[in-house]
Amino acid sequence: MVNAGFTCPNRDGSKGNGGCTFCTNSAFNPAYCNPRLSVTRQLELGKEFFAKKYPQMKYLAYFQAYSNTYAPVERLRAVYEEALAVDDVVGLVIATRPDCLSDEIVEYFTELSRRVFLVVELGVESTHDVTLQTINRCHTWTESQSAIKRLASCGIIVGVHLILGLPGETETMMEQSVTAIAELPVTLVKFHQMQVLEGTVLGRQWEQGEVKLLHWTAEQYASLCSRLVKLMPSDVVVERFVSQSPPSMLISPRWNLKPGEFAELLKTKMN
Ligand code: SF4
Repeated sequence: MVNAGFTCPNRDGSKGNGGCTFCTNSAFNPAYCNPRLSVTRQLELGKEFFAKKYPQMKYLAYFQAYSNTYAPVERLRAVYEEALAVDDVVGLVIATRPDCLSDEIVEYFTELSRRVFLVVELGVESTHDVTLQTINRCHTWTESQSAIKRLASCGIIVGVHLILGLPGETETMMEQSVTAIAELPVTLVKFHQMQVLEGTVLGRQWEQGEVKLLHWTAEQYASLCSRLVKLMPSDVVVERFVSQSPPSMLISPRWNLKPGEFAELLKTKMN
C-alpha cells in the first residue's frame, strides 16, 4: 500500500467539505504508508515487511488512501511511473472516486493498462442516491455507472467497492445495489461491512442516536454475503467481504474475527 499524499475533493471543498460521514483514512493506512516518504521508499518498506514470509513474491502497488486521481495528470504520471520502476512491482491498483476521472487521466490509464497490469477501483459504496446523500458522498449513482462504463470501454479492469449496512439501508437495498453492479462491466468487487469508527461524523451520529444502522452478528452478515455472491455473474471476482480497522478506533461492529476466520464462516453459509 502506498500513500502518495493525494487529498480528496470531498474534503477540500471542491465537491464537499468534511468528507463521507464514515471516513477516516487513518483506519486503513499501515505504518509504512507515510506520505512524507517517497513512493519508492514506501514500496521498499512494504516489500521488506512481506519479504521474509514470501521471498519470491511480485507486487501490485496499491494506492488506496484518499482519491488517487485527484491531481493533474503530470503528477499522476510521475507517481505511478515511480512505483512501476521499483523492483518486483508488476502493476498498479488505483482507488478513487467515480467523479474524479478527467479525459486526460482516462487516456493515461488506457495507455498504462496496455503496458502493465492495472486495476482502477471505484468507491461506489451504494447504488441508492438517497444513501449517497445521507453519507455526504457528493457524487451520484449515475456518475458511478458512467465511470465504470467509460473505464471498461477503454479496456481498463474495473473494481468496485460497496459498503454493506450504510445508514438507512435494508438488505433488500443492498441486494438491489449488487444486482445493479452485476449488470455493468465490472471485474472485481470488494464488500465492506459498515464500520463505525472513532473520530468520524458517523461515530458522533451513532453515539447521539441520529442514524439507524443494521446490527448484524458475523453469522448474519455472512448469510447476507452468501446471498449477494449468488447475484453476481460467475466471472466477477469478489476480492473482499470484510474490512479490518484498528481495534482502538472501532466502535461497531466488534466481531473480533480475522478475514480468514470470516472466510471459514462464509463457506459454511455457501454450502
Ligand atoms: S471515503 Fe474517500 S471520497 Fe469519502 S471523504 Fe474519504 S477519501 Fe474522500
